[in-house]
This record gives sequence, structure tokens and C-alpha cells, in this order.
Amino acid sequence: MSWLDGADDDDEPEYDFRARPNPKANRPRTKRRPAHDDAKIARVLGVDRGRYNVLVGEDTPDEHRVLATRARELRKMAIVTGDRARVVGDASGDEGTLARIVGIEERTSLLRRSADDTDNVERVIVANADQMLVVVAAADPEPRARLVDRYLIAALDAGIRPLLVVTKTDLADPTVFLDHFEGLDLEVFTSAQEEMPLDRIGAALVGHSTVFVGHSGVGKSTLVNALVPSALRATGHVNLVTGRGRHTSSSTVSYRYAGAHGAGWVIDTPGVRSFGLGHIDPANILAAFTDLAEVAEECPRGCTHLPDAPDCAIIEAVEEGKLGERGAARLDSLQRLLLTFESRDTRS
Ligand code: GDP
Ligand code: ZN
Repeated sequence: MSWLDGADDDDEPEYDFRARPNPKANRPRTKRRPAHDDAKIARVLGVDRGRYNVLVGEDTPDEHRVLATRARELRKMAIVTGDRARVVGDASGDEGTLARIVGIEERTSLLRRSADDTDNVERVIVANADQMLVVVAAADPEPRARLVDRYLIAALDAGIRPLLVVTKTDLADPTVFLDHFEGLDLEVFTSAQEEMPLDRIGAALVGHSTVFVGHSGVGKSTLVNALVPSALRATGHVNLVTGRGRHTSSSTVSYRYAGAHGAGWVIDTPGVRSFGLGHIDPANILAAFTDLAEVAEECPRGCTHLPDAPDCAIIEAVEEGKLGERGAARLDSLQRLLLTFESRDTRS
């Protein structure tokens, strides 16, 4: 199947749109009035060269895959993996047929990134995911807390629950690295060459749409293939010409996870090199720390909650010991994420 074979990064159409300075932009209203009452709802599994691979009749006896194009009237509207598309025309999925996407349903979440921090042109990565599994290696490549922070910020901003997998723990001990994330509500899994915690990770996938993100080389494809054997993601190939990893699957694709405890969706993304935060609203980061957000209601207007913020209610509560050690660790984590955001100048 050609869409599974993938191609170059450039073959994946990415639709840019200008961010509006609206905090609700995380849940953009994408609904268009259906002019087509007979449209079927289909899950967008993947996009390849302007063709969409969609799943019609999900979880019914009639479930099948269909190849579709987008209707011209949708213009440049982004349609991405995870979208729930309204499909008309020949949706039989028979060889040589092509259905047509005439609209998409309102999204529950939208994971976006900007090319860099000063850029507020966003790229839409995945729609309707409710979890993000961040994959990072204990070594080779060296883990960088700043890059993980950026993934976490993007997830929290989008209202997506983050999870963390540290791979290659056979190569290095991740304890010191993991100390960085002490104050977060972050489920952490560790994984080694011969000891992948597939049962535990699988259990976390059941009933969710989980987008997998990570720098290339961290072992994300190895993990996806172990969880979804039919995925056939290319692993560890190094291009002899460029010396870089070869990604025969460079587009974002959904796979159904089917484990002993139930099913879910795994959405694999190509190794993300940069994760600009140009579009992010720091208020969404604080909001993700529900316990601290409550305390922050007593903060002065415009409080940054950073170490030098005068009369910050969170800092005062921590200093007075009202939030315990846990609260102190959480404030630390919050400040680190906010600082990443404040100093949006370098790419990680
Ligand atoms: P991706 O670019 O993140 O998809 O990474 P791959 O899955 O292609 O893995 C990159 C390399 O790391 C491959 O050679 C894998 O065999 C290797 N690898 C993956 N997981 C582990 C692990 O837990 N331990 C060790 N030592 N190597 C691993
Ligand atoms: Zn404050």
C-alpha cells in the first residue's frame, strides 16, 4: 500500500494557517454545515500525496478502508491523521475507487507546532489525540530535558495527557534525567533492548488515541513495531550517503493497538526535529497544573509565577510550606516549563 510505504517529508501535505490570538484556538471550530446528508463518518488514518486513507464503519462489521480525496470546496483546510472526516461518493473501498472528503467533524484536540518559537504559523500534526507518549533514549542519542519539556508543553497546551518512555536503559541509567520530571503528573516507563514493558505501555493505550513523538534514533519505531506488529515501521536504517537515519515511513500514520486488555489507537509521527512553541498560550500551561492554578487565583494580575515574581501566591504558599514537598517540586516543574516558554529564542 503506497501510503504505508511513505516517501519524503515533502510529500506530506502540511497546511498552515495563521494563529488567532484566541486561547480557545486549541479547540478550533472546524465544523462546516454538511451539505451532504448521506456522508459517512470516517477516521483519517494517514495522508500521502493528497490522498487520504480513511476507515469507514469503525468498530462495525462493515469496517473497511477507503481511499479518498478532499473536496475542492475545503480549499486549504487542514485534514490530518485522527480527523473524523465526512465522506461521500464511492466509499466501497474497492480497487480503483476514490471517495471524497466533504468536511471534518469538530475536533476534541489538536496537536500543533510552529517551525520555530518566533513563528506563529502553525503546523497541524494530529487531531483528536488524548494522550502523547514521549519517547526519549537514556543514551544514544543523549536525552535532553529541554526537548522533552517542549513536548510536554505542546501536550499540556492542547489538553493532551503526556506519558514518558525512556528507552535504551540497557545503555545508561536514566535516574538523574528522570529527576527533572519529578513534579509532574507523568506516568514514566523504562524500556531496554530485551525488556520492553509492552504490557504496561499497552494497558495505558487501551481506550485512547495516543500520539507517539520523539527525536529520531530513540527507538520509537522499535516500540511501535513491538506494540503493533503489523505496523512495519522501518527501524535503525542509516543512509550511507547522508549518514542519517532512513525513514521509509515519514508521514504520520494511525495504527490500531489490540492487546490482551483492549484496543486503542497508536499514532506514529516522523521524528520531530524542532518543536517551536510560537503558538502556545502560557495560561494553558498553568491550567494543566490544576492544584497550582487554584492557588494562582490569588496572584496579582499578570503574575508570571517565575522566581522573581512579586507577591506570587504559589511561591508564597510553597515558602510557607502549605503545599508540602510535592508542591515545591511541582512549582519547580511549572517554572521550568514557563521559563522554556519565556525564553523562546533557541530551538531545541
Ligand atoms: P526511531 O528513529 O526512534 O524510530 O528509532 P529506531 O526504532 O529505528 O531505533 C534506533 C536504533 O536503536 C535501532 O538500531 C534499534 O535497534 C536501537 N534500539 C531501540 N531500542 C533500544 C533499546 O532499548 N536498547 C538499545 N541498546 N538499542 C535500542
Ligand atoms: Zn503567581
